[in-house]
Amino acid sequence: MSFVSHQLRCIGSGERIAPDAVSSDFRDPATGELYEVEYSWSETRGDAAAPRPNAQALRHLWAERRDSTLPIDASGVWRYRDLLPILKDENNAVTLREGNTPLYDLPRTSKLLGLDFLLTKHQGMNPTGSFKDTGMTTALSVAAERGYKWVACASTGNTSAAMAAYAARAGLRAIVFIPEGKIAWGKLSQSMDYGALTVQLKTDFDGCVKLLTEIVRKNPIYLLNSVNPYRLEGQKTPAIEICEQLDWQVPDHVIVPGGNLANGSALGKGFTELKHLGFIDRVPKISVIQAAGANPLFQWFTNEEKQLHPVTADTRATAIRIGNPASWRKAARVIEATGGWCEQADENEIAVAKAQIGAEGIGCEPASAVTLAGLKKLLKSGHVQTGERVVLLLTGHTLKDPEYTIDFHKDLLATDVAEAAPYRRPPLVLDANESSVMRALEAEMAGSL
Ligand SMILES: *Cc1c(COP(=O)(O)O)cnc(C)c1O
Repeated sequence: MSFVSHQLRCIGSGERIAPDAVSSDFRDPATGELYEVEYSWSETRGDAAAPRPNAQALRHLWAERRDSTLPIDASGVWRYRDLLPILKDENNAVTLREGNTPLYDLPRTSKLLGLDFLLTKHQGMNPTGSFKDTGMTTALSVAAERGYKWVACASTGNTSAAMAAYAARAGLRAIVFIPEGKIAWGKLSQSMDYGALTVQLKTDFDGCVKLLTEIVRKNPIYLLNSVNPYRLEGQKTPAIEICEQLDWQVPDHVIVPGGNLANGSALGKGFTELKHLGFIDRVPKISVIQAAGANPLFQWFTNEEKQLHPVTADTRATAIRIGNPASWRKAARVIEATGGWCEQADENEIAVAKAQIGAEGIGCEPASAVTLAGLKKLLKSGHVQTGERVVLLLTGHTLKDPEYTIDFHKDLLATDVAEAAPYRRPPLVLDANESSVMRALEAEMAGSL
């Protein structure tokens, strides 16, 4: 792997720059647009003569690495490092053995929806409990290799948890900006546990981004928000892992939540590269689901406008409580290029979907549940057919936000829809004697007959 084997390409102008020439905010000063990582074999290079990774050989190599005890082989991100040569020296990879996440079926939900094939890719099973680990291992490794002592991010919670953990592993200092009062406790506690300097700002996520961008411009601090294109190189690897887990059979439709919109973009890059290199013969449709209270991309799609109008975000799915998503243009291109769709889910729909996933013994955080809520709508509108093979990306672990789950079961979420009632399991407070317990148990047994 070699440093010069990649460059950064502005997604607006197509102009290319050397990796070390990038500005601190990862935006092209001329266009204001983001960059993507480009390799000599990338489709955008249009260089048919460039040596290409060999799909056949790599499938074998990646399978072999599963038996290796080397940390970078055991990582479900770095195992695929041949398609992400972003480090000068692969020994600089900072890994917590991320990736390697399971595909679970949802038998009851599939039946309810009339689908034959419905799987979830549970990215909440990563080391810090969200998919952010897959992108943090790559981008933070770049920061470490380039000699940065400090890394920073603005976060709705999961990015800060992941960054704090990987920074601690690498011996770097981390500073986290989070919106005060709008973050789930599980995530906030992780940032502190892993030793980051945690700053709660009296603003929303979008306000945190603005301030942090100013600070990294003036200080030697490496920005690890998802504007950093190396995050997406790690976040594209679940696309590879899904194909590998399905024995290189491509699903028809992949559905992801949309917040800052990097994750859907990254998965699109992953699938597209796999097709370009001949690993797979087509790409799945990629659809993005936003919370109705934080839906600028959904609005852009339905209004057929050329400019994105930021919104003031409001949803209890805090991971996607983002009104001005940085990667919206990348995501919009992925949706359009793959034939996917953009949908929104309201608070009731999110709550019911989360309870349904929980009732299958899987569980996820509210932001992940928008995928199932969105799938129901895509089925109704005909954008997903019942014969299609569908994969939902579950982005975060249920323990990230236990308060939300408890509020749902105690009926404090104001989800007064009939669909929610069968899933509610509030804790019972009973006298400590056999008869009161038996009364409750008998009532429950009678109810489930
Ligand atoms: C970050 C995050 C999202 C949103 O991903 P984007 O790349 O910002 O669109 C969704 N769900 C969870 C659990 C997250 O942590």
